Amino acid sequence: MKNTFLISCFFCAALFCAPAFADITVNQAVIQQGEAVRVSVTPAEKTKSAYLVFHKRRWPLFPAPDGSLNGFVAVDPDTAPQKYRIQFYGRTSDNVLITMNTVVTVKKGVFPTSRIEIPKAKKAASAPSTIMKESNLIGPLFAQVSTAKRWSEFLLLPVNGPVTTPYGASRVYDNGRLAWWHRGVDIYNKKGTPIHAPSAGKILFSKTLISHGNTIMIDHGQSVVSVFNHLQTRLVRDGDTVTRGQVIGLLGDTGIATGPHLHWGLSVGNVRVDPMRWVKKTPPAPKKMQ
Ligand SMILES: [Zn+2]
Repeated sequence: MKNTFLISCFFCAALFCAPAFADITVNQAVIQQGEAVRVSVTPAEKTKSAYLVFHKRRWPLFPAPDGSLNGFVAVDPDTAPQKYRIQFYGRTSDNVLITMNTVVTVKKGVFPTSRIEIPKAKKAASAPSTIMKESNLIGPLFAQVSTAKRWSEFLLLPVNGPVTTPYGASRVYDNGRLAWWHRGVDIYNKKGTPIHAPSAGKILFSKTLISHGNTIMIDHGQSVVSVFNHLQTRLVRDGDTVTRGQVIGLLGDTGIATGPHLHWGLSVGNVRVDPMRWVKKTPPAPKKMQ
């Protein structure tokens, strides 16, 4: 997320607007499927409304203390590898439209295929109708956009352990019936291992689901949302605020799980990205549970 490149920019669609200084920068000019790009815009004039357009949809921008506007655009394995334009649109208080743009190149990611055998006792939990119902319940929450920035430049790993299924892996169940790509990372550890909040945030969702198991979602602010599935125990409730590193639950195997693990998903602007690309540090030493 560092190493800022100055990519391109400098043109103003409003013919009468000739900014003395305006730019749009991205922290990576080439991104891989599963990554997010930080976009920073400094319009020449103050804008009353501003947003980005990337890959045929709008992406929010948030004001920073230095006067710039910042946001993300993100890509997943469904985003075709090619060049894309990131377009900025802003309106001044006089209703003058300002636009700027830059270009990023999306590269194909390398993702493995994994086949999993569902134990007999878990067959009911893997019914497509149940999965669909639950996905419809939690899916819209990933689109959450709250303006307070609670995430840090890098996230804590919520639990230590080997990655058993990486982000983006094609998942095929034992009978080949269901297949999709893995929208998070599976980390193995013992049942009951504490799960830490990767960054501060507000609890968007904390409930027991049949397929997804005990599930927690955290809104880290400014379109960054985490999800944690298959927990043994949830230790937070809807609406709670959590601090970075706080224990939010205990690792388990509830829902469709072939063994104890944490499924950690990360959404940026409602696109599931690879959470491991945001991690730079191991979690804090587990605190004694009360
Ligand atoms: Zn998973």
